Amino acid sequence: MWALSLQVCALEHVLVNNDGRPQKLSGEVVAEDSVGSLLLATDEGGLWQVQANMIRSRTSDDAAMVPLDKGQLSQRLLAEMGPGFQVHESKHYVVVFNTTRTYAKWCSSLLERLQNAFIAFWKKKGSPVRQPEHPLAVLVFGDKASYMRHAKAELGEAAGNAIGYYSLQTNRIVMYDLTGMQALRRQNSRRGSLHDITALLSHPEAEPLVATIVHEATHQIAFNCGLQKRFVDNPVWLGEGLAMFFETPDLASRRSWSGIGNINHMRWGRFQDNFSAGKVGTLKSLIVDDSRIRNPRTAVDLYAESWAWTYFLVKWYPKEYTAYLKTLAAKPLLTPDDKHTRLADFQAHFGENLEALQDEFYRRMSRLR
Ligand SMILES: [Zn+2]
Repeated sequence: MWALSLQVCALEHVLVNNDGRPQKLSGEVVAEDSVGSLLLATDEGGLWQVQANMIRSRTSDDAAMVPLDKGQLSQRLLAEMGPGFQVHESKHYVVVFNTTRTYAKWCSSLLERLQNAFIAFWKKKGSPVRQPEHPLAVLVFGDKASYMRHAKAELGEAAGNAIGYYSLQTNRIVMYDLTGMQALRRQNSRRGSLHDITALLSHPEAEPLVATIVHEATHQIAFNCGLQKRFVDNPVWLGEGLAMFFETPDLASRRSWSGIGNINHMRWGRFQDNFSAGKVGTLKSLIVDDSRIRNPRTAVDLYAESWAWTYFLVKWYPKEYTAYLKTLAAKPLLTPDDKHTRLADFQAHFGENLEALQDEFYRRMSRLR
């Protein structure tokens, strides 16, 4: 049983044993259980779940936690990443990189446009979103090998073969320079200037790669602007559907972002193939059961279902969808819901009759072109 911490004005210093390596964490305890496991919020926006048996020592003082500003976050990240890394700061992001500065700038420009468009989109739908309180951290490695070393150290085998990820714990996104990928290199292709990078990453074969960055960046924004909350019972389909809804990048314009809510052809094509093969599950199972979307063998199919349902709900039930997100964000920390509660929350917003909703879904979605 987790209890919210009442002592919000104390800074806790915890020395943890992280797979044999000592790690110092400082922050505010936002939740604590009866045996001393903690959820610790750090000054850079991290949220660390520390099991009691990982804690070697723990002290506290009554200093108030002050969130890091961009300059302080830059210094923190540079010190952590070591020699060879540089920093590029933009309005809302701190990008620490060991590839070219031009690529770091390309990333921050993409993310700034995404963040502006994301917040404007949800504001227009009546959602109480706000600019993130913390500058958002982005690590960009120059090549895949060094990225994989970092990802494996942080995620273990779960690092898989992804080209980037967002960590709920560190609140950072981590990726590598896509323009170095063999699959994208062309004879005589250069990768120096901003123009070259944009040209290279606008090719159709780069689209799924850029979409991955946008996907991870969307998770980061959603959890930092008040739309979603970390460490509550977030149904997996919902968070993933939300990220995929924004996945359709618009690289044509350097200023705006018109790709929101476009049909995500990669996901929609997959859904249609699965539908023809009789492989699409019910809405109910999507809502109550996270196991198929977490299973690497079935994940891609469930992602397609999650995209389709998100598209349908955001397009035809926007008020209900934003109210549903608000309900989920207000849930207690670290408290998984049972299937009954999952279902009841969904039905409270979208109606009792899931079969009727499903019929409407198929009727409307069959007209998508
Ligand atoms: Zn995701």
